[in-house]
Amino acid sequence: MPAELNFLSLLTGCFATPVAENPTVAMVEAAYRAMGLDARYINCDVAPADLGDAVRGARAMGWRGFNCSLPHKVAVIDFIDELAPSAEIIGAVNCVINNEGRLIGENTDGKGFLTSLETVIDPRGRRVVVLGAGGASRAIAVETALAGAASITVVNRDEARGKAVVQLVRAHTQATADLVSWKGDYVVPEDADILINATSIGLFPGVDDVPAVDFNSIRPGLVVADVIPNPPRTAFLKMAESRGALTLDGLGMLVNQGVIGIRLWTGRMPDAKVMRNALETVFGA
Ligand code: NDP
Repeated sequence: MPAELNFLSLLTGCFATPVAENPTVAMVEAAYRAMGLDARYINCDVAPADLGDAVRGARAMGWRGFNCSLPHKVAVIDFIDELAPSAEIIGAVNCVINNEGRLIGENTDGKGFLTSLETVIDPRGRRVVVLGAGGASRAIAVETALAGAASITVVNRDEARGKAVVQLVRAHTQATADLVSWKGDYVVPEDADILINATSIGLFPGVDDVPAVDFNSIRPGLVVADVIPNPPRTAFLKMAESRGALTLDGLGMLVNQGVIGIRLWTGRMPDAKVMRNALETVFGA
């Protein structure tokens, strides 16, 4: 292990805040400070054409790992040595671990979501509805199904993207999966246990936007989760709460994917509460 730990981040502004206030940097560095770890988590903008050079640089400098965000989550696979099982299924990597010179690609988005979900409900045998079919949806659908969900319903406007997520779940997990083409207000089935907004609707600055869901179909006892970390209490969650649903915010997912990354890089457990506090400060929550 090098005397000094360095962490490369390939974040490219996925959150609507200046780099100086990058929430992931604030969260991870707060964790390092609290752990007494002599390490840094550095945010770098990397153009798609330079991704290979950036990864080779990280390897050459002995960096212990890095996160990467859009647009690098799929392209980075060409430059690493190995994929962890669920990253292989999902087909995207957001966290790379340098394991004695071998770069291992993980996908911690879905795992972070699952950790958060498990604080309120055991997904085994549950009927899950996922709004959206992008990267977050793929990761959440696969991990929730691998954790034993009975069924995954993907609701999406673009049918081809939706179908791709459904096929992924059917091919690699025991869960059943189906697609609902998203037209008008989606009516949540009475037997659904968990409803997840995995779209980008509601992300700052579009804070008043809510997914097209028939709110009369949201009932007490339904678990409603949002992937949006900023603002943590989205308009969607507020409406779901007013209907008696049990809600789960996107900060939990973000914190937990960070916890998993730090554990994989350092072998130590960071303090999730410290990390959440740091994020809340950046987001003014
Ligand atoms: P993508 O761009 O890959 O996918 C976005 C999805 O949202 C698509 O399925 C798209 O539908 C759907 N969508 C967007 N706008 C609308 C709309 N107006 N009506 C209906 N559907 C819509 O994004 P990601 O999956 O990578 O990310 C989604 C969100 O998840 C982001 O806001 C990101 O911040 C958040 N995220 C949070 C994390 C956390 O830790 N909390 C981690 C990762 C992501 P269509 O296919 O029809 O275009």
